[in-house]
Amino acid sequence: GALSVGLYSSEDPLVLLAADTVERSVFNSSSAWVVEFYASWCGHCIRFAPTWKELAGDIQDWRPAVMLGVLDCAEKFNQKICSDFGITGYPTLKFFKAFSKKPDDGIRLFHHGDDIRSLRESIITTMERHEEVWPPTCPPLEPISAAEFHGFFRAYNVTYLALIFEKEDSFLGREVTLDMLQFENLAVRRVLKSNEELVRHFNVTTFPSGFLLVNNGSCSIIPVHMDSRPLYTDFLRRLPGVMKGNTFRPTMLPSAEPQTTTAPWRVADRKKLYMADLESAVLYTLRVEAARFSHLDEERLSALKQYVTVLVKYFPGRLVVMNYLHNLDLWLRPRTNVSQNNWEEALRNKAELPYARLPENPLWVGCQGSKPELRGFPCSLWTLFHLLTVQEALLSPNHASPSEVLPTMRRYVQYFFGCRECAEHFEGMAAESMHKVKNKDGAVLWLWSRHNRVNARLAGTASDDPKFPKIQWPPQDLCSSCQIIINGRRMWDEREILRFFKAYFSRHNIYLDFIK
Ligand code: FAD
Repeated sequence: GALSVGLYSSEDPLVLLAADTVERSVFNSSSAWVVEFYASWCGHCIRFAPTWKELAGDIQDWRPAVMLGVLDCAEKFNQKICSDFGITGYPTLKFFKAFSKKPDDGIRLFHHGDDIRSLRESIITTMERHEEVWPPTCPPLEPISAAEFHGFFRAYNVTYLALIFEKEDSFLGREVTLDMLQFENLAVRRVLKSNEELVRHFNVTTFPSGFLLVNNGSCSIIPVHMDSRPLYTDFLRRLPGVMKGNTFRPTMLPSAEPQTTTAPWRVADRKKLYMADLESAVLYTLRVEAARFSHLDEERLSALKQYVTVLVKYFPGRLVVMNYLHNLDLWLRPRTNVSQNNWEEALRNKAELPYARLPENPLWVGCQGSKPELRGFPCSLWTLFHLLTVQEALLSPNHASPSEVLPTMRRYVQYFFGCRECAEHFEGMAAESMHKVKNKDGAVLWLWSRHNRVNARLAGTASDDPKFPKIQWPPQDLCSSCQIIINGRRMWDEREILRFFKAYFSRHNIYLDFIK
């Protein structure tokens, strides 16, 4: 049966990598590798997965010259290796040329939009830019010269040579070359429009167009009259004597069993907040998100200090957790530079002090999703920050002074939130209107309304949990007075929203269910 790991399955034509296999797969490999480092909870990764699968299917015949892999950085077992590869946001696509030696050899693969064409082209361009180590199974992709053409059948023992005449910026010739790499008895080369000698020799006037040469001296036009990779590939694959060689058979590398024991369903009441979710958010931010960086300094360190200080001030946690955060805050304050090791050590040490502890593993209750990749961390992060804005409004009597929670959240998201596209969206909203927020009640309302904007944008997309559809919140059954009808139109009543938030996000509404 198919093995599912994170967002992918063993039936997808790509390699499911894990902490114990990624290095032996990617390093010293005679293939170039393109690896998607993702986090299964990240909405953009969920929406990107179908594109990556489609790409894997589309270029599966480019194997073994180009191999596609995926690695789920949200899996606890993989967190350390993702940090070793310098992954700080998801999804990150990295290209490893053949015979790469170390994580640093990975090159960020840039692409425009999520269409597989731009991904394919980007893979080719990146390969060409790093051609000093060419995968041995990959045919040359550079244009053929007139001299090479004239001596071709003397140099290569093949029956056919397909020439694709095209403009410089066309990818057709290179893609067809890669599509045909597993097939024997045929070579494909591109000829540039600027190669006047060959263009004249074949009397080519349309680009692209193709010619088929046979080693017995015959030459014919390839009957494809448009810029269509599948039509060219299809024609060439049907030629007599052109057959798939047995050069490539995908092998599955043995990998440690991913820890995908499905959690028991925990029944939650949506009128309540659960301490398990809130502590899990704190745990994940500190132990996973902040631990991804090899160094914390300057702005990033200052954002982290501000975050921990705000937790100490406003998080209504259990005594052991508050002690832990307090110790961490004291440790962090005087530092100007914190290495990853310092940070991990500090997180461990603070738990050794008496009555100071953070849970070991995240546990989602109100934020549990109907599938392991849905809800969880991002849900708990929203909940935590709503809670903090409300606690600040309740605790500091001076309502005229500005919120410190909101700018803290902004910096947290900017410097640490692993879903980078989420962070960009959020920063867009913050830059547009956060400066207009005058006081703490305003901060509560700002976060409420921006979260609803995000809900509206995401409703019905792939990261929407069908069991917990994204709605404009709070719904009628949680707060019937929050919406009023004016002139037949349903409107929010902000005073009622504030009243409701101060009750819903109060410490009395936090339940300790499932916490041991
Ligand atoms: P969530 O939206 O996570 O909400 C959690 C809980 O908060 C809900 O269950 C509900 O009880 C409550 N709630 C809902 N709305 C409100 C509200 N308006 N005010 C107060 N409480 C509310 N995903 C993307 O795919 N693209 C993005 O651009 C993106 N941006 C994000 C930005 C930030 C800062 C964060 C924290 C997350 C972002 N996400 C994004 C993730 C996405 O918003 C959800 O968190 C995720 O899909 C999980 O959804 P959920 O159904 O658990 O509800």
